[in-house]
Amino acid sequence: MTDYSNTIQQHLDRIAKHARDLFGNGHVADYIPALAKVDPNQFGIAVCDLQGNVYQAGDTTTAFSIQSISKLFTLIQALQIYDEELWQRIGREPSGQRFNSLMQLEVEQGIPRNPFINAGALAVCDRLESRCSAPNYQLLELLRELSQNPHLLVNTTVARSELEHGSRNAAMSYLMKSYHNFDNPVEKVLESYAHHCAIEMNCIDLARAALLLCNKGKTLAGREILTQTQSKRVNALLATCGLYDAAGDFAYRVGLPGKSGVGGGIVAIYPGHYSICVWSPELNDAGNSLIGTYALEALTDALGLSVY
Ligand code: GLN
Repeated sequence: MTDYSNTIQQHLDRIAKHARDLFGNGHVADYIPALAKVDPNQFGIAVCDLQGNVYQAGDTTTAFSIQSISKLFTLIQALQIYDEELWQRIGREPSGQRFNSLMQLEVEQGIPRNPFINAGALAVCDRLESRCSAPNYQLLELLRELSQNPHLLVNTTVARSELEHGSRNAAMSYLMKSYHNFDNPVEKVLESYAHHCAIEMNCIDLARAALLLCNKGKTLAGREILTQTQSKRVNALLATCGLYDAAGDFAYRVGLPGKSGVGGGIVAIYPGHYSICVWSPELNDAGNSLIGTYALEALTDALGLSVY
């Protein structure tokens, strides 16, 4: 294995400095009004390795709304409970459509394409609601353990704002219900989903939380969260579906499995080596962090990291 530790910090410092020159080229998510209030001129990047080291540059201790990055962790929860049975309700193919599109859901008779688009994550939340006594609390507890940050919280203002403007998510859920692919009351699942998206974490928290996917499903403390096969499969889903209709471009430019959120965060996995979280609120047209994608591309190019 190549030892990158001497140079990694220099690259992060250089990338964080350059990132600030790129502010002003994207747009902050505004379809959830509470997210439109976030200061766009922020950038942070954190890298964790399997020795427990954390490298970081920029605004890495500022907490942000994890939004769709929560879909990675609800999938992990659902796999712990259902394993392969989960795929009776949710597909595993890239969608090639925007994260909140309804089109395929009608064509494919209420089976969402994958767990990382909104429809798929709502179906995952429905599955969790069926088997967990307190799905929201259990997700928060899992994230607190994985991030080693017991202070993580949900921003209830953001959750409420999403619920008040979540007609598309409601439409998807009712459509799935009409096809008998949704067992629980829609309003209950929507509330749960909005709370997941409104959890706030910083770059270090998220890089730490994702490290199990670099470590064949285990935490650094040795607790098995996923089996090594499940961990392999989650990374494959991240690579093919984690960036929605920009999954191909992200693979081409960054070369790693990843998951984005409209809060401007992106988590990327280099299995066996590093978990990375980058955050900058301005988004590109696909709803992914514009400068975050640039930063990951610059880092993987500089260090020669790729799963391909
Ligand atoms: N909460 C957002 C929504 O449901 C999450 C979308 C995202 O981060 N891509 O629209």
